[in-house]
Amino acid sequence: MPAERAAEVPPLTVGGVSKVYKSRDRGTVAAVRDVSFTLAPGTAVSLVGASGSGKSTLAKLITGSERPTSGTISFGDANVGRLRAGGLRRLHARVQMVFQDPYSALNPVHTVEYALTRPCQNFLRMTGAQARERVRELLETVGLTPAAQFVEKLPHQLSGGQRQRVLIARALACEPQLMVADEPVSMLDVSLRAGVLTLLADLRRERGLSLLYITHDLLSARVITDEILVLRHGEVVERGQTKRVLQDPQHEYTRQLLAAVPTPGNVTAAGTVPAPNKAAAAASASREHDVTEGRAT
Ligand code: ADP
Ligand code: MG
Repeated sequence: MPAERAAEVPPLTVGGVSKVYKSRDRGTVAAVRDVSFTLAPGTAVSLVGASGSGKSTLAKLITGSERPTSGTISFGDANVGRLRAGGLRRLHARVQMVFQDPYSALNPVHTVEYALTRPCQNFLRMTGAQARERVRELLETVGLTPAAQFVEKLPHQLSGGQRQRVLIARALACEPQLMVADEPVSMLDVSLRAGVLTLLADLRRERGLSLLYITHDLLSARVITDEILVLRHGEVVERGQTKRVLQDPQHEYTRQLLAAVPTPGNVTAAGTVPAPNKAAAAASASREHDVTEGRAT
């Protein structure tokens, strides 16, 4: 399945893309400047930069929620910057996002099951019964097991890590070909980050999907990606194989980002976590519960 799947996944091509915002108080802001890169089918690229470097703007351009001021973005034969409503809907069946804030991304009054059956019904045209069955599979895929324990839960009954897993499951529901994860672990408790990152890494490998991982934490990139692009003030200042960039950064800004990584014990230790299997993933998800149970989050 992964190999066949990779053959279907089209490349994402970002060609000379810029985005200029006009705001009343700050005049014009060039959030993204002449960025070009290709995300080959089934590969993972990290987009790394400090706050304000244009990462989320690029994510919005790639997922079609903003349009570039110049340049083109294509995903297979879709010219993303030009899509209208129908084309955008079709794009969203293939390109999904995971956001930074698992607290605000889930509707507080909807159960996990409701949140996950909706995309199955909307995108895959499943019946209610089929969708409910699929929700159980999705929950197991993201390590929320036994699924029966999670379907009726409301967001406030879950830890941050569990909520982010639900959101990853929601993104997977329509079997996307490309996942854009914008700082998916930066709002999570440090102890939960490695588990969620390894889950993303495994999903990418197992499902053959392409992954754009966005982070300000350069070292976390080594857990999941083949390549790194370093963004500064909207411009790519360094790019290369993940290992090379981390071991031998060429740009002063990349060196500063590396130096800014906090001490051991944080997410950067994720690189040393052994390759997880399903049992380990489930164990880690249930620990997430233990860690935050009783905490008002
Ligand atoms: P990052 O995700 O790397 O923190 P962003 O892409 O959110 O960076 O922002 C890049 C720059 O663009 C920042 O200076 C930000 O203030 C500006 N910006 C982002 N969105 C808007 C907007 N809608 N209007 C005006 N300026 C914006
Ligand atoms: Mg951002």
